[in-house]
Amino acid sequence: MDINGKTELFCLIGSPVGHSGSPAMYNYSFHRTNMNCAYLAFDVELAKTKEVVDSLKALGCRGFNVTMPCKTRVAELADELSDAAALIGACNTVVIKDGRLYGHNTDGIGFVKNLKEHGVDVKDKVMAVMGAGGAATAIQVQSALEGAKKIYIFNRRDEFYPNAESTAKKISEKLPEVDVEVYPLEDSRVLYEKVQKSHILVNATKVGMKPMEEESLIQDLSVFRPDLVVADAVYNPRETKLLREAMEKGCKTVLGGIGMLLRQGEAAFNIFTGEDMPAQEVYEKFFQ
Ligand code: NAD
Repeated sequence: MDINGKTELFCLIGSPVGHSGSPAMYNYSFHRTNMNCAYLAFDVELAKTKEVVDSLKALGCRGFNVTMPCKTRVAELADELSDAAALIGACNTVVIKDGRLYGHNTDGIGFVKNLKEHGVDVKDKVMAVMGAGGAATAIQVQSALEGAKKIYIFNRRDEFYPNAESTAKKISEKLPEVDVEVYPLEDSRVLYEKVQKSHILVNATKVGMKPMEEESLIQDLSVFRPDLVVADAVYNPRETKLLREAMEKGCKTVLGGIGMLLRQGEAAFNIFTGEDMPAQEVYEKFFQ
C-alpha cells in the first residue's frame, strides 16, 4: 500500500484494540478497490472519547469504527444517528462529513445479512434471542426494523436484564407492530416453550465463547427440530457447543458468529466508501 499526501484516514477507536482484525480487513479492501485510504487502530479510554473524536474531525478523518468502551459515548456525541443506532443507543460506525458525525450500528445489519446469505429472511419470523448486551440488542433492534413478527428476549437476572426490558420498550414505541416479550433465562420451561414457537433461535450471550466453550444455554436437546434456524453471535470458537448439538439433532440451518462479523464489516465499508467490500476474498484471507 502506498501512502502519500492525499491518503485519507479511517480508524478504529476503543480499548483494547491491539487484537482487532479491522485494520487488516479494511486496508486490504482499500487496496483491492483502488482507494487511496488507510485504516489505523487507536487505543482510546472512555474519558478521552470526546477529545479524540474532536481531533479526528479536525484532522479530516473520513470515518471511524468504535469498539468498547466508547460505543455509547460516541452515540451521545453524534449529530445524527441511524434508526438502529438510535434504538440501540450505541454506534460502531461513524462517518464524518462537513464536520458532522453520522452514527450507525452495523452489528445487527451484519447478523440479518448473514442470515439472508444463508436463505433466511427475518421478515414475519418469530425469534427467540438469548442475551441483552451489545450484540443481542443490535440483533433484536435490527430484526425488528426488518420486519420480524415477534421477538422473545431471554436473559439471566444479571445487570443486563434491565437492558432487555428497555430494548423491548423502545422497540414497542418505535415499531408497535413488532411484539417483544422479555423473560428470565432461569425459567427454562418458558424458554423451551417459546423456542418451540420460534422460527429462529439466537445465542447472543457470552456462553459458548472461550473460556465457556463447553457450555450451552440449551440443555433440553429435544427443542432442536430440523426447521429451527440456530444462530450464534459467538465466533471464538467458530463452532460452539450450541451449534454442534443443534447440528447433531438435525437442524438444517446452523450459523456461527463469524458470518455476522464479516457482514458487519462489509456494511461499515459500504457506509464509509459507497463501495462494495470484496467480502468473499476478505473471508478467505482473514476469517478462515
Ligand atoms: P456484553 O458483555 O455486552 O453482553 C454479555 C451478555 O452475556 C449479557 O446478556 C449477559 O447476561 C450474558 N452472559 C454472560 N455470562 C453469562 C452466563 N454465564 N450465563 C448466561 N448469560 C451470560 O457482550 P457482547 O458484546 O454482547 O458479546 C456477546 C457475545 O457476542 C460475545 O461472544 C462476543 O464475542 C459476540 N459478538 C459477536 C459479534 C459478531 O459480529 N459476531 C459482535 C459482537 C459480539
